[in-house]
Amino acid sequence: MSTTNNHEPILSFKDVTFAYEPHVPATLKDVSFELPKDSFTVIVGPSGSGKSTILRLVTGLDKAQKGSVQNTARTRMIFQGGALLPWETTLNNVKVGFTGRKMSEAQKTHDAMAALTELGIDTLGDSYPRHLSGGQRQRVGIARALVSSPELLLLDEPFSALDIETSKRLSDEVLRIHSEQHITMLMVSHSVEDAVMLADRILVFKDGHIAEEIPVSLPRPRTITDPEVQAIIKHVQGTIPSSG
Ligand code: ADP
Repeated sequence: MSTTNNHEPILSFKDVTFAYEPHVPATLKDVSFELPKDSFTVIVGPSGSGKSTILRLVTGLDKAQKGSVQNTARTRMIFQGGALLPWETTLNNVKVGFTGRKMSEAQKTHDAMAALTELGIDTLGDSYPRHLSGGQRQRVGIARALVSSPELLLLDEPFSALDIETSKRLSDEVLRIHSEQHITMLMVSHSVEDAVMLADRILVFKDGHIAEEIPVSLPRPRTITDPEVQAIIKHVQGTIPSSG
């Protein structure tokens, strides 16, 4: 159940400055933004601009030296490639998502199978990660995140290791989960196309700060060939000089 209401941001960064080490230039400089509940925000920007660092601060893995990060949401992360345990089956990899929960083994198996069914990979419960395709591994990673009923999902380049077709199918899946389960999404991507297809807001990062904030109000699902989608892609690309 959600612990927030629709008017309160689920996550807020206020004037956040962060450096990985003392005496080196800050990786994030005075970053402020809020995530409204049920929103889908995608962060784009050149490599090294601080996108993944934002996710590390959201999870609490690193702490801001200046400013504040407030996160009231039950948060889970989806990593590139799924980040599965190679020695565990698909089913057990999904059950990792229950760590710390007081549940019977039978209930865990039931809920994990339900998540695998939701992701269309319920026949793969006994398979090991080495026998799965890149797209299947990523689906297992998503199922593992979903079993804990997250309110905020962080996605770090979730489609970047996949071929175009698989990436498209998975991105449709992420959008479906977002709209059906009302999970707030914060995704980091190097792909402006993915950002414009999915986001209701795009944050363009440059040198550790937000250079542009671009709302995308077109209805979803979107079609990549739609001239309005193409116009926004062009606009966003124009804000990232070193991209492409
Ligand atoms: P992006 O995701 O936009 O490619 P990152 O957030 O990964 O950028 O990195 C931003 C900057 O922080 C880069 O200059 C990178 O070298 C540096 N950085 C990232 N992780 C670490 C770390 N663990 N220790 C020190 N510097 C880091």
